[in-house]
Amino acid sequence: MIYQSEQLTIKRLDGDIAELNFDLQGESVNKFDHATVTSLTAGLDALEAESGIKGLLVTSGKPVFIVGADITEFTSLFGSSKEEIKPFTGANNKNFNRIASLPYPSAVAINGFAMGGGLEVCLACDFRVMSTAAKIGLPETKLGIIPGWGGTVRLPRIIGVDEAVMWMATGAEKRPADAMKAGAVDAVASPEQLRGVTLTTLQTAIDGKLDYCERRVRKHGPLPLNDTEALMTFFTVKSMVAQQAGKNYPAPVKVVEVIEQAHKMGLEDALDVEAEAFAELATGPVAAALVGVFLNDQLLGKKAREWEKKADKPIERAAVLGAGIMGGGIAYQSAYKGTPIKMKDIAQEGLDLGLKEANKLLAKRVDRGRMTAAQMGDILNSIDPTLTYGGFDNVDIVVEAVVENPKVKHAVLAETEKQIDKDTVLASNTSTISITYLAQALERPENFCGMHFFNPVHAMPLVEVIRGEKTSDSAIARTVAYANKMGKKAVVVNDCPGFLVNRVLFPYFGGFNMLLRDGADFQAVDKVMERWGWPMGPAYLMDVVGIDTGVHAANVMAEGFPDRMQPDFKSATEIMFELERFGQKNGKGFYEYVEDKRGKPIKTVNEDVYGMIADVVGEKTDFDKDDIIMRMMLPMAIEMARCVEEGIVGTPAEADLALLYGVGFPPFRGGIFRWMDTIGLAAIKEASDKFAHLGKAYELTERMNEMLANSETYY
Ligand code: NAD
Repeated sequence: MIYQSEQLTIKRLDGDIAELNFDLQGESVNKFDHATVTSLTAGLDALEAESGIKGLLVTSGKPVFIVGADITEFTSLFGSSKEEIKPFTGANNKNFNRIASLPYPSAVAINGFAMGGGLEVCLACDFRVMSTAAKIGLPETKLGIIPGWGGTVRLPRIIGVDEAVMWMATGAEKRPADAMKAGAVDAVASPEQLRGVTLTTLQTAIDGKLDYCERRVRKHGPLPLNDTEALMTFFTVKSMVAQQAGKNYPAPVKVVEVIEQAHKMGLEDALDVEAEAFAELATGPVAAALVGVFLNDQLLGKKAREWEKKADKPIERAAVLGAGIMGGGIAYQSAYKGTPIKMKDIAQEGLDLGLKEANKLLAKRVDRGRMTAAQMGDILNSIDPTLTYGGFDNVDIVVEAVVENPKVKHAVLAETEKQIDKDTVLASNTSTISITYLAQALERPENFCGMHFFNPVHAMPLVEVIRGEKTSDSAIARTVAYANKMGKKAVVVNDCPGFLVNRVLFPYFGGFNMLLRDGADFQAVDKVMERWGWPMGPAYLMDVVGIDTGVHAANVMAEGFPDRMQPDFKSATEIMFELERFGQKNGKGFYEYVEDKRGKPIKTVNEDVYGMIADVVGEKTDFDKDDIIMRMMLPMAIEMARCVEEGIVGTPAEADLALLYGVGFPPFRGGIFRWMDTIGLAAIKEASDKFAHLGKAYELTERMNEMLANSETYY
């Protein structure tokens, strides 16, 4: 044994080959945490002192290779200054440079995931052999940073600038065929043959039949581009990346800038350029927000798995009541993810519509080569359309998605309960009606909970699982398990009007209606909020949700929280409703919609709409953009704070993700609590005072005031 620690070992094999094996004790995966980096330095000291070594084999003792840097360690890093961050990149760069310049060749066997730093160590090796079971990539830009251990330097020198930029700007995971085609790896082997092929490659290099020195010259020198080529390449790539990433995500463009700045440099200088840019991004708010989202997502996943463990019975067969927009979507998603589902409606047209929708979504996958026609057939066959309750005694969960009417729901739920096993979970996809209230129709309310999907079901990741007063843990556990199986992100919340997402969304729409009342132009408001990062502004969003649905839900919310959600004026949204301008669903709302060739609704402006709402809007006023933002965001943020304070949702982390996955809250802001932490509660208070005349929706809670006084933050 040359070196041994809890993170890695280096031992001497036959033929004077040293094997560096990463195997982090007590963890299921390898990662570059602080201890591993330190251990690698010590291991390399020992390796360099060992005489007679002819080659280095790098392997992993886990099913993955190395998943990357330890992101949980990033949070402390991100609070530091640029100068404090540089040693973080420096220490491992030194390690990788030492591997890259050993006086003998090195080859790595990439047996599983090699992401971020995990791939960067492979790039430092002379030869790379990849298992058919492995995936590689540099996903740092997804976290708002760039690769910091030589990725921006070595990858373009190995696979070319264009390809390297695409790998890093998208952060995509690459399969063996793509990696081989790009030239990122030298060979692909089956898991059984991986070690043998890697050792043979290494031995061939040791025997002088593969020139590793020539590779090093290429990898450590300037990029082979003349000035004209460089100008053309970087100009084109930069504008393309900038357009794709958008102005709120600086990391992808930084990747191009760093490669450009370092293209005439050798390894050491190029690494300095990378380190400087890494530190700049790592100290910015976008990286903090995106890393926060990543960590929150880990927490949510952990909670979901914990619930799943508590499920006393797996969900193997499901049923959905109602084959409308939502029921059809739920049936598709369930079948697509492998749970056969009965889809019941009272009308054949409903069933036809639901199946047509599933058909359309699956056909798209077949067209794009993501699925075979035979697979599509199997999935469609696992949706069983029916007008009766036949076979309902044999399902594990029933999701009710009939019209949003409490009387109809009460009747349908009571009727269904008689048709199902006493153990079957019954869940409602209601958007607004209290779960505790709906449970009153049932004999087994403990088996009942909310399972609130978002529209369109296949595209929106969030599912709110709602606990009514009598809901049992078992019902929640099995519903979360079903959501997991459907590939959704489940957030468990307590019952209240609007649950979590709609409860905070409607104060936001309330803010919008007040802005219009006070003379703001709805298009101007949309533009400001879209620039702020929302995928669509409030008028457009209201059209997409459906103005009829929106008005109905707003009434429910007003009844539930009259002190802050009951308007004392007639709103422009209500006028739209009265004029039967229901939004995208009937082609007209605040905007009008025409379908393009592919049937996608395209938003257009009809200036007549201003005339229609003239009676309820004030004299045209040009609001300052910051005022628009605060008038829109404050009611949402304060209501969300109430939801945490009242225990509707467990943590700010879950609340932040619920908005991100349910309504597309801008990820680069990290979530609404992260946003409040970033701008500070003092700024929130200042805005609250400024807009106090707008009512209680703008008034901070006692706890928020207390937090401000104690300089507390949500994270
Ligand atoms: P929809 O009108 O498109 O579909 C409702 C379907 O239920 C229709 O096909 C109707 O024939 C059927 N139906 C009515 N009574 C029935 C019964 N007794 N048994 C079986 N089927 C019956 O409505 P939708 O938009 O799909 O909404 C369904 C539910 O989902 C509502 O509770 C709604 O609040 C909720 N929801 C809707 C959205 C959305 O954006 N549309 C989002 C989240 C939740």
